[in-house]
This record gives sequence, C-alpha cells and structure tokens, in this order.
Amino acid sequence: MGFEIKRVGIIGAGQMGNGIAHVCALAGYDVVLNDLEKDRLKSSLATINGNMSRQVGKGLYSDEEKQAALGRIHGTDQTADLSEVDLVIEAAVEKEEIKRRIFAAVCPFLKPEAILATNTSSISITRLAASTDRPERFIGIHFMNPVPLMQLVELVRGIATEDETFELSKAFVTRLGKTYAVSEDFPAFMVNRILLPMINEAIYTLYEGVGSVDAIDTAMRLGANHPMGPLQLADFIGLDTCLSIMQVLHEGLADSKYRPCPLLVKYVEAGWLGRKTQRGFYDYRGEKPVPTR
Ligand code: NAD
Repeated sequence: MGFEIKRVGIIGAGQMGNGIAHVCALAGYDVVLNDLEKDRLKSSLATINGNMSRQVGKGLYSDEEKQAALGRIHGTDQTADLSEVDLVIEAAVEKEEIKRRIFAAVCPFLKPEAILATNTSSISITRLAASTDRPERFIGIHFMNPVPLMQLVELVRGIATEDETFELSKAFVTRLGKTYAVSEDFPAFMVNRILLPMINEAIYTLYEGVGSVDAIDTAMRLGANHPMGPLQLADFIGLDTCLSIMQVLHEGLADSKYRPCPLLVKYVEAGWLGRKTQRGFYDYRGEKPVPTR
C-alpha cells in the first residue's frame, strides 16, 4: 500500500478537537489543528498542555515525550494550512450545513488521495460524503469524550467508502492505541443509539416522579454498576447534545420509542445544559453538585 497517514489535520479545536489532537500527537503524527477563532486555538493548546501534564504526573510518559508531542501540534486559523495533510478529521459543531460548508472550503486544498473523516455523533456519513468531492475517501471516525481517556472509536463507512479508506482508518485508530468497533451508517451509530435512550428513560423516570435525581443516579450506580448515574452523565455530555441525538433518532428511525422527554426539552429551553452552563440536573455553582429536582 503506497499511501500512508503521517500528517493529520483537525478542523474544530473544541473539546473533541483538542482531545483528538492530543492523542494523535502522542502517537507521533504531525498535527495541524484548525479553528476559525484564534482564541479557541490558544485555549485548546493550553488544555492539551494541562491534560498532558496530568498524564505525565501519573507516570504515563515523560516530560520530554510531552514536549515532543506538543511540538508536533501546529495551530492555525487558515484552511490552506491543511494542504499537506493525509487525513482530515472534522470535529466542528454538530450542524449539517456547517459541516458541508467546511468540506466545500477544505476539499480544494486537499491532496486528491487525502482521506476526509468526520467525528459527527449522529449525522449520516453517506449523506455528508455525497456532499464532498471524495465519497470513496470519506469515513466516520467517531471518538468518545474525553478522547485521551476513552478506549473506543466507532468506525462508520458510508455507502461509497472504499476498502483502502477503511483499512487505513483501522490502522490509524490502532496506532492511537484505541480499539475500534465497526458500525453501519444508521442514526447515532451504536454507542449513542443505546446510551441516549437509556438517559432519556432516566429523565422520563424523573419526569413521572418515580424517583428523585439522587435516587435515580444512586440506583443506576449501585444497582447496575454504572460508573456515573444517567442524569450525572447527561449533564456531562450536555443536555442540548442529548436532545439533539434523541431528535436524530426520533426523526431518523421514525419510532415513537425515541420521543425526547418533555423535561429534557424544558431544561434545554431554560439554558440549563449541564456542567458547561453550571446547571442541569445538578447545580454545579457551589462546592458540591446539588440536585435541581
Ligand atoms: P465544541 O463546540 O466544543 O467545538 C467545536 C469547535 O469547532 C469550536 O471551537 C468552533 O470554533 C469550531 N468551528 C466551528 N465552525 C468552524 C469552521 N468552519 N472551521 C473551523 N472550526 C470551526 O464541540 P465538540 O463537543 O468538540 O464537538 C465537535 C464534534 O464532535 C461534533 O460533531 C460532535 O457531535 C462530535 N462529538 C462530540 C462528543 C461530545 O461528547 N462532546 C462526542 C463525540 C463526538
């Protein structure tokens, strides 16, 4: 196989983009991290630095290795700087029009053989691929949050994704030290297809007064051995994200069993989106999280 992935471009330096840059740089890839906003790039590089320091503190690798990895990450707000990469991973916001616009802007700069991947949590890979100039070299590489800690990556082929793209993506994920699970291209893939209805059901359980926030989370932590309760997890993921994934399932599979819980809608309408806004099913403004119902 002639083509090899050496340089990786990442579009979007948000929580996922910086995690992906982190693991790619540690695995020895040169990384071009692109965002529209210079401030985002700056804070993203600071986050990566902090997260790597924590890992050095845990003895996972040396400070020298950390410095070398940081040196491999080049932040830029210029799309043209992606022209030399072999693989681009789009990790911008979960909006189809924005992703399409990004692909239209970046494709003219890319090498013809470069692979284009998206980290989308829910949008059809086949449909996104069809909007680009390279559906055969397009694939879903879906990392989990937080990327440096989570072992799994879902690989999702679109209908046109060719074998070489799939094989190169498998090798890439493996070199990152991650494990992949292959999912067909259906709404929300596998992890979120299973996880989000459980979270939505926990919110219904709260909505119907079966249990309090505390009782539901305790029940699932101690009764099902989950490391976090479902409502705590929902706050961690972001309630807006939870709602949009439920909407994708509901619309994409046209089954009422995916109906988003009205209480979830209400929290999102209130702007109580979980940890990122300091309030969701718990209030994080004090020293300890306090249930909001
Ligand atoms: P985020 O909001 O933290 O980051 C998105 C970044 O994209 C921002 O920094 C923004 O400035 C940047 N951006 C927007 N438009 C851009 C453009 N045209 N060019 C360059 N940069 C642009 O979002 P996130 O949580 O990191 O999610 C990113 C993607 O990863 C989404 O598709 C999401 O569904 C997916 N995802 C998220 C999670 C999660 O738990 N948060 C998990 C798996 C996958």
